Amino acid sequence: MPSSEPRPVFQLNPLAFPVETDMRYLLLVIAAVGTTFGLANYAIYSVLPSFVPDSTAKGISIIGAFVIVLLLFGIAHQRAGRAARALVAREQWELFPPPGGDALERASLQRMTTHVDQVMQNLPAVAGQRLDLHWNDSSADHLKNAGMAFGYRDRQHLCLNEGMHAAFLNASHTKEFLSVLLHELGHVANRDVSRTTFSIELGRTFTQLAAVLATITIGFLLFYVSRRRLNGMSDQNDVMVLGVIMQIAVSAVLITALIEVIRASVLRVREYYADTRARQWLGSAAPLIDGFERRAAPGPEASAGAPPAVPGIVVQRSSPPRRALWQLIRDYLAPLHPSNKRRINALENPSALFEVDFLTVFVASLLIGIGLSASSLVFALPFQLGDVATVWLLHRLDVQTDSTLWYAILALALLIAVATFGALVGLFVTLCLVPLVGTVGVMVQRAAFVDRTRPRQESLLPLRRLLMIALLVGSGVVLGGAITPTPGVLSLQQNRWLLAPAFAMAWAIALTAWLLPLRWFAGRVYRSHVGPKPPTVRRRSLAVLASLAITPVLLLTMVGQGAVISADLNATSAGLLPSLVLGWLLSLPLSFVIWSIGALFMWLAGWFGPARCPACAKTASYTRAITLHCTHCGEPLIAWAVTPAPISIPPLPPLPTMQSDDAPPALNGPY
Ligand SMILES: [Zn+2]
Ligand SMILES: [Zn+2]
Repeated sequence: MPSSEPRPVFQLNPLAFPVETDMRYLLLVIAAVGTTFGLANYAIYSVLPSFVPDSTAKGISIIGAFVIVLLLFGIAHQRAGRAARALVAREQWELFPPPGGDALERASLQRMTTHVDQVMQNLPAVAGQRLDLHWNDSSADHLKNAGMAFGYRDRQHLCLNEGMHAAFLNASHTKEFLSVLLHELGHVANRDVSRTTFSIELGRTFTQLAAVLATITIGFLLFYVSRRRLNGMSDQNDVMVLGVIMQIAVSAVLITALIEVIRASVLRVREYYADTRARQWLGSAAPLIDGFERRAAPGPEASAGAPPAVPGIVVQRSSPPRRALWQLIRDYLAPLHPSNKRRINALENPSALFEVDFLTVFVASLLIGIGLSASSLVFALPFQLGDVATVWLLHRLDVQTDSTLWYAILALALLIAVATFGALVGLFVTLCLVPLVGTVGVMVQRAAFVDRTRPRQESLLPLRRLLMIALLVGSGVVLGGAITPTPGVLSLQQNRWLLAPAFAMAWAIALTAWLLPLRWFAGRVYRSHVGPKPPTVRRRSLAVLASLAITPVLLLTMVGQGAVISADLNATSAGLLPSLVLGWLLSLPLSFVIWSIGALFMWLAGWFGPARCPACAKTASYTRAITLHCTHCGEPLIAWAVTPAPISIPPLPPLPTMQSDDAPPALNGPY
């Protein structure tokens, strides 16, 4: 159907829904928690049994692992707080405007400061924030028209390159100056600054911690094996220990690589949204695209070879060949910055930002697998604590003479039961539901909404793509369980590898049964939400409903896989498989009951109804497609989903009074 009117999809605002940066940052934090816990727990547990009884060792290793997770976040937080100050000191950046130079230059820099201030005051998302301005005339690339936003929490900084001043003065480059400035302020508005700094420090701390933990574990196991060998006590068991060492080494490397891939992807993806923000403020993508095309050599913001501590800054240093090779591998697998070509593509085709991102889906599924495997250990914690406490009580008090003691023990048992349940629910929500519903779920919601604004043949989420997502999640969960260093419920033993495709298939079916209703809901509940405010309540309600609906299927699939893996298939498990399949078939209808109850509530709340125009109060024509504008009065209906109007850029401040080069003393003098 050819049409001369602009296609509505290009007006949609990619910032109306939670963006990719939020999701990947969430995944990074969850990955750091889950994998550090697993590694630390395994490291402590492999060392302790030589010194203390096994049950005590289990308890200590679980508590110890929790402490190490806290330590990881504490150290990363500390380092993030110091990072900005260290950077300013190392690069010798002065506060802006710098005091040096001649009077004319100073006046011109003062004029630029005034303009930057005025622009910032015009940006609602930036205006309230404190931002220290810095001046970079010292780094190797200081003449490039580029800047950098950095900092942590309430200490945010914006560094302007000397090259920005040149662009500011050159009338033909003013737009380019503005696009660089607005891109950096876009990072501030998108709340990227703190998260970037914390991601970098978290990744660095995690790598060091993982190396230490793996070294301790492997070192101890090697010591243990060689001591037995020296004492002439070697047996078949030692071969297994060597296998364990291999598994720890491989897992530690894989997990560190995974964290690095997520961390790099957070840094990469945030650029698209800073560009998007700058495009919205400017009202056009052209200045940004011009800037990318003009830069023959990549600017500081576009450097992939930046040292890990500082995104967007090129520090010239000659790297030894081994380091260069490593750089080559990492640039290929996990580049820290998108290429200019990709950024241009995202600017020219904003609907790409609404698509379901397969990397995020896969990483989320890996984490679910790792999380489900690692969490089986935590279930043991309350029991271990209970054991210790009960034994202690029985030792201290004479059971025969004191009946209140029995109540104490009963209360303790109850407490332990509640704690176990709490830990179980908490872990399931954090390691399983949050990555699934908060990433895959949100992306599916977003794409299903956008599909309602465009022709069916341009759908972002056709059935074929939905099935691919489900299959990807299935494979990710099974693989995640397999690479977990701890022998948890989902980790595949050597002789069960053949079952992996079957498990992946079972997870994919469970996921499809969840994605289909989710897509159906998301395509309907947003079209009646009008006004400028995003439909946060609807999105969160749908997330809660989706969580409730997937829980029975997810739990049963997990228990099923765990049971099949740990069962001795030759002997007692004749009835196992059929009963699992039966349970699974029962949990699917249960989830549909949950969806239906949710649908009833949403229908009663009027969320499925047609949109009512906020201006003329007439209902929009009720069709499959979302109506962006009222058909009666033309007012925007779903203003929240449409790209906002550009900001007004204040005019440049007046030029400083021209002084000849001989004159500066006049300004400095005591007049
Ligand atoms: Zn940037
Ligand atoms: Zn109207």
